[in-house]
Amino acid sequence: MSKLESVETLVIGSGPGGYVAALRSSQLGMKTAIVERSQLGGVCTHVGCIPSKALIAESHRYDLLRQFNHADAAAAFEIAQHFKQGIVKKQAGGVGYLLKTAGVSILEGEARLVDKHTAIIQQSGREQTISFENAILATGSRPIELQAFPVGGRILSSTEALSLPEVPTSLVVIGGGYIGIELGQMYAKFGTKVSILEGGEQVLPGFEAELAIPVVRQLKADGIQMITGATAQKVVQHADSITLHYLKNKEQHEVTAEYVLVTIGRKPNTDGHLGLANIGLPVTGRGLIETDEQCRTVIPNIFAIGDITAGPALAHKASYEAKIAAEAIAGHASEVNYKAIPLVVFSHPELASVGLNETEAKAKSIPIVIGKASFAINGRALALRETEGFVKILADSASGIVIGAQIVGVEASTLVSELGLAIEMGATVEDLALTIHPHPTLGEVIMEAAENAVRKTMKVKKEQQI
Ligand code: FAD
Repeated sequence: MSKLESVETLVIGSGPGGYVAALRSSQLGMKTAIVERSQLGGVCTHVGCIPSKALIAESHRYDLLRQFNHADAAAAFEIAQHFKQGIVKKQAGGVGYLLKTAGVSILEGEARLVDKHTAIIQQSGREQTISFENAILATGSRPIELQAFPVGGRILSSTEALSLPEVPTSLVVIGGGYIGIELGQMYAKFGTKVSILEGGEQVLPGFEAELAIPVVRQLKADGIQMITGATAQKVVQHADSITLHYLKNKEQHEVTAEYVLVTIGRKPNTDGHLGLANIGLPVTGRGLIETDEQCRTVIPNIFAIGDITAGPALAHKASYEAKIAAEAIAGHASEVNYKAIPLVVFSHPELASVGLNETEAKAKSIPIVIGKASFAINGRALALRETEGFVKILADSASGIVIGAQIVGVEASTLVSELGLAIEMGATVEDLALTIHPHPTLGEVIMEAAENAVRKTMKVKKEQQI
């Protein structure tokens, strides 16, 4: 056992939660160490956000070339995989560089908590003990595995699906959530025959039907078969294919493909060797750790952030919580406020939501006005040949304050930040409508949706005066 090291903040896990927490802790003047059992950067950098978005962007480029008859799928996919590896390497290198220059000690190995102020770090049979004043747990999540669909051979999780050596001829995706849709559509654009099996009545079940419709239309145009209201039951593997048996309308069906991709959700890494039982830290039935508004667990010097806590399992949520936790340790009064966490699906067209949607606002009995505008006649959208979709803004009908927004359309992922800022700042639809947006840009659709909402708030006010 090597000599005992002591730090003020120990961060376990180096994903977008952990590395941002370690950076902020060090910037705030605390002696900080970060432990990582695999690769710096976590799921997001290696098998999540970054590689998936690299392949998605490449599939769009290929799709475009195909339209101009300049395409060879095999060659394009090989280039795409190479390009993806390069980006992942650059990002992971960037995380290491940032941590080192901020003075964070990087410890390689798996951390196990032995008591409330001590962890043991194990690597290749060697152990190091480290004592800490505070710990931030950021151990992330892994794909849920079902007994009937064990990953291996022709059964893939998202991790394997991001590193296939060549474009499969056919693929069945179990789960029509955002990961299944993004990866399924990416392969469809490279020419794979894709089927997506979803238990709910529509794919992207977390989104209102009117938002999912333009995406579904494009998925169909990309040749994807969507089988909704269906339950996957078992698979039978053959030498060069795999058959998935499923139940729909109480009848047995089957579909055969080269691979089955299982994207049915993720499981928090709070089990295994982390040692939560050693410190008496409980987890919920789903394995999540409960925290307060400063990301503090029931043990006052232990914090938890990212995918191991409640809320959407998203990289930017993990990074946001990371800063709050580090600041709380430093004695700041920082607290989380989740009212404007953007959700994005990098489908074609993209889908984004921030704040409340119409269903949620109605459930809370908030009187709202809804402003809408379409990309159909937006000059920039026309130039990009991407006219599908619309912007929808929800505002409190009395004050005009923006409380939520959804976008389906080109660059929704980028456009949604303006609406997130509006919610954060308590801006009104009038503020958005009076902001001069450059022409011709996609942002003008936000301005038009806001103008549409302003007209409706004026109507509400007039009616109230009568
Ligand atoms: P992670 O990124 O999971 O990192 C946890 C780290 O902790 C890992 O590196 C792990 O090795 C390490 N670790 C675990 N236990 C220990 C231990 N005991 N000791 C030492 N180290 C340990 N989110 C988005 O916001 N946008 C997207 O576009 C997006 N796309 C995605 C696409 C895919 C295919 C997938 C799978 C996920 C995607 N996500 C996306 C989700 C995003 O990747 C996660 O929400 C994010 O990575 C969570 O960050 P985290 O810091 O909580 O944990």
